[in-house]
Amino acid sequence: MSKPRLLICGGGIAGLTAALCALKAGLEPLVIERAETLSEVGAGLQVGANAMKVMAGLGLDEAVRAAGHVPEALELRDGESGRVIFSVPAGEAGRARWGGWHVNIRRAALQQVLASALQHRAPGVLRLGAEAVDYTEMADGVVVELADGECIEAQAVIAADGIHSALRRRFASGKHPEYTGHTALRVMAEADDALRVLVPDASIAWAGPKRHAVTYYLHDRRVINFVGVVEQAAPVPEGWHTEASLAEARAAFAGFAEPVAAILEAASEARRWGLYDRPPPSRLARGPVAVIGDAAVPMPPFMAQGASFAMECAWASVWSLATAGGFAAYEKAMAVRGGRILETARRNGRFFHGKSLPALAGYAPVRLAANLSPGFIKQRFDWIYGYDVTAGRALDA
Ligand SMILES: Cc1cc2nc3c(=O)[nH]c(=O)nc-3n(C[C@H](O)[C@H](O)[C@H](O)COP(=O)(O)OP(=O)(O)OC[C@H]3O[C@@H](n4cnc5c(N)ncnc54)[C@H](O)[C@@H]3O)c2cc1C
Repeated sequence: MSKPRLLICGGGIAGLTAALCALKAGLEPLVIERAETLSEVGAGLQVGANAMKVMAGLGLDEAVRAAGHVPEALELRDGESGRVIFSVPAGEAGRARWGGWHVNIRRAALQQVLASALQHRAPGVLRLGAEAVDYTEMADGVVVELADGECIEAQAVIAADGIHSALRRRFASGKHPEYTGHTALRVMAEADDALRVLVPDASIAWAGPKRHAVTYYLHDRRVINFVGVVEQAAPVPEGWHTEASLAEARAAFAGFAEPVAAILEAASEARRWGLYDRPPPSRLARGPVAVIGDAAVPMPPFMAQGASFAMECAWASVWSLATAGGFAAYEKAMAVRGGRILETARRNGRFFHGKSLPALAGYAPVRLAANLSPGFIKQRFDWIYGYDVTAGRALDA
């Protein structure tokens, strides 16, 4: 049995970021990922300025920015009329305010930046085709059991194995994730000049009723990412592989403003992703084992913060381990923040779908506030994007 100092289970955004943090901190990480290859599929992700500070700390912010696209604004619009409810400058103004770029990027491109950096900095640290099934705490560490019966011993374990985490079961009630009744329809459209004129260069949430869409450009504004969330009672599986029909997506968003209709018209395929939720565990760490990212707090996508929070967790958990020899400081730093992001995302989900009112009426107070005091709306984003998990938590001190 080999003995890496830190075993990271899961090679998603959380696990790869944690491995890079561990290298920076001088730890010896090994990442095990159950997939045989790192997936090339996946739609777009918004990486908030809070997460870009983690990328900057790892020397990867320019690589992420170059592979993605920085929108000019973050907007909320009424889906049907297209009217702007509020618009917050992103781009250079966002960077000045929040200390990092807001980057929209293909998930596969982000994973590629992280995996390439890992391969370059420590070849062999990522082991594919290895699935963790359980762990046993020992007097001086942890033994993780793999699906094929192999055991890997480590001094500490970071579980970054997603919402269905096999390793988090010891942390809480053991509740399984449940289908939320919401399904995301994910679409990409090639952007030609006509579409680029029609669709603003912003990350836009187009709100309700009973559905909402998020649109933004990806690399070089050549592709537009569309995520439309609809209410659908029958459970739908998670994953990037379930096909949906474009006719269904167009019908679900019939009556939405012209830019949304034009994106759906230009698209060539749609996929479906059921949204699942489960209560966060009461603890983020237990002895020498910590849970991070979706394994810790699975985020509904209504704040676009799941991957960003996963990166914050990665930094904080490694810092905690490297500086204090355990995960207590990580838990202290991230439990409250994770809960706050989760609650805000859930509230946004209810709000976006405008259960009882047409979205524009429901948002009238927000719209009024945005018009009277644009600074008020910007401030509402400061706690999320302005946060810097790296501040005062140097990894290579
Ligand atoms: C529709 C939608 C839109 C979203 N949009 C955004 C957005 O704009 N911005 C944002 O920040 N977030 C967004 N998210 C959320 C984001 O995708 C997730 O929060 C994020 O990917 C979580 O990363 P993770 O590494 O924790 O988990 P995952 O991405 O789930 O990675 C877990 C990894 O662990 C591996 N694994 C699982 N079990 C095991 C095991 N037992 N042993 C070994 N390996 C294992 C898996 O194969 C996988 O590679 C969105 C999510 C959805 C559904």
